[in-house]
Amino acid sequence: MIIKNIAFGLVHVPLIKVFKTALRTADSFDMIVVKITTDVGIVGYGETAPSYAVTGNSKESILKTLNFLKPILIGRDIEDFTILLNLLHSSIDLNNSAKAALEIALYDIKAQNVNQPLFRYLGGVKKEFKSNMTISLNKTEVMVQDTIEAMQSGFTSLKVKLGSDYKEDVLRLEAISNTIDSSISLKVDANQGWTPTDSIEFLNAIEGKNIVIDFLEQPVNRFDIDGLKYLKDRTSMCIVADESMFSPKDAIEILEKQAADMINIKLDKCGGISKAIQIADICKLYDVKCMIGCMMQGAISVGAAAHVASCRSDSIIIYDLDSPMHCRINPVEGGVKFDAPNIVLSEEAGLGVLDVKGVRWL
Ligand SMILES: [Mg+2]
Repeated sequence: MIIKNIAFGLVHVPLIKVFKTALRTADSFDMIVVKITTDVGIVGYGETAPSYAVTGNSKESILKTLNFLKPILIGRDIEDFTILLNLLHSSIDLNNSAKAALEIALYDIKAQNVNQPLFRYLGGVKKEFKSNMTISLNKTEVMVQDTIEAMQSGFTSLKVKLGSDYKEDVLRLEAISNTIDSSISLKVDANQGWTPTDSIEFLNAIEGKNIVIDFLEQPVNRFDIDGLKYLKDRTSMCIVADESMFSPKDAIEILEKQAADMINIKLDKCGGISKAIQIADICKLYDVKCMIGCMMQGAISVGAAAHVASCRSDSIIIYDLDSPMHCRINPVEGGVKFDAPNIVLSEEAGLGVLDVKGVRWL
C-alpha cells in the first residue's frame, strides 16, 4: 500500500473560555489537520496544534516541517512501517508536533488496513476513560467558579493550574479545596512557575491547611532536573515531570536520577505514537506510572492519545485529555467521543475519523 498524497490544512477552533497557565494564555488555537491518502483508497488522519511556550512549534514551523517531510514519505510503502517512522524522525531533528501529526495518520492507515480500531491493533482493550478537567490560573473567584462548573459537568478529578506567586497560589488552592466535595480529587500543575524552595514552602503551607492533592506537576524550570530531584528527596508528595520530559532519552535521564514519581507523556512533546509507547515502556522498567496529556488541540490528536492510553493501560493510569472539552466546536466527524468527563473509543477501524469539517486545505 503506497502513500499517494499528504494534504494538510487549518481549522481555527475557539475555546469556550480563555485558557491560562503560568506559561500561556489562549482563547483559540489553529488545529493543523493532516490527511494521508493511499493507492488502495485508505485515508489516514492526523493532527497537531501549535504550542509556542511548550513545544516551541509554531503554526509556521509545523507547516514548513510538513512540507519538508511530505516528499520524503510520498511513494513509500506503508508496509515498511518501521522504515517509514525512522525516516520521519531522522530526516529532521526536533519539530515533534509535525512528526506526531504524521505518525498519527500513518498509524490510522496501518490499523485500518487490518480492519481493527487503533487501540486493538496496538494491543489495547480499555475503551473508556475519565479525563481530568483543567482549572485555568486566574483570580481566586474565577477559579472557584470554574471548579463549581467542572463538578457540575461530572468531573471528579481537577488539575489546578498554579505557578504564580506561591503564597497567593496557596490561597487559590485553599479556596478551591473549600469548594469541592469529598468525591473530588485535586492535582496541581505549576508549569515551571516556582523555584525548588518555593515548591517546598507551598507544600508545607498546604499541608498545614490540610489541603490534599494527588501530585505536584512540573513546579520548577524544565531544565532543572536537579530541582525536581531536590523536591522528590525532601517531600512525600508525588512529583510529576512534564515539560522536563520530551523524548524517551529525557525519560531515562529523569528516571535514572530518580527525579520524578510520575511522567506526563504527550504526543506533541515526544513526536507521536511510537515514541509515547517507548516512554511508557521505559517507565514500566523503572516501575514508574505515567499520565497522558495534551496541549490545546483537537479530537484527532487527543483521541490518538486515548488509543495509546488503552494499549499501555498498565503504565498509563491518569488521563489528562480534556482539550476537546474546552473547545467551542469539534470539526471532527467520527473517531473518539469526548463526552465530558468521559472519553470513549469506538470499534471503527483505525481512528474511526470520517471527515473533518471546515478545513482550509493549504
Ligand atoms: Mg503540565
